Amino acid sequence: MYLKGLMLVLLCWHCSYYYGRMPVNPDALKSYQEKRNFAVTSEPNPPKIADKRANSKKMIFVVQEHHSRQLHYDFRLEVDGVLKSWAVPKGPSMNPKDKRLAVQTEDHPIEYASFEGTIPEGEYGAGTVVIWDRGIYNNRSNKDGQEISLSQALKGGHASFWLEGKRLLGGFALTRTPRGWLLVKMRDEKAES
Ligand code: MN
Repeated sequence: MYLKGLMLVLLCWHCSYYYGRMPVNPDALKSYQEKRNFAVTSEPNPPKIADKRANSKKMIFVVQEHHSRQLHYDFRLEVDGVLKSWAVPKGPSMNPKDKRLAVQTEDHPIEYASFEGTIPEGEYGAGTVVIWDRGIYNNRSNKDGQEISLSQALKGGHASFWLEGKRLLGGFALTRTPRGWLLVKMRDEKAES
């Protein structure tokens, strides 16, 4: 009886894993976890990757102003249950003429989107983190006229999306170049000149 119940639970878990949601990379946070000592830093260390929120077109984004050795802005987009992350030394711009270098960093847990605080001296990324902007975004990526997921778009080296934040509004694009990614505001009614 007990064994049957257990097998049923395992079967349901197995099926929900394979059919209930889009595939996520279970190792996506490995690099994030390896770089940090969670006994010392107050940064989040969630036990597992968040389930990709099914049928939600409203994914979150956050920009964290990070006063580490070198001030930079961490730009993060929710993709496949994690926050895809880039360090933008000059910060995002609302002016389409500004092409902002964005250095891709390790995927962060979704929980990191609400993190603010001071990472202790001697720890990875030591310094103060404050939320500079946050909100939701819609994927606007396509290839050959076909809509593609943001995950696919990033793999292909060009993604576009619409941000709804307090400071950042409208269309943006991330493009991979030999020197790193470039984060650029698209020309639309929200753009500044
Ligand atoms: Mn950072």
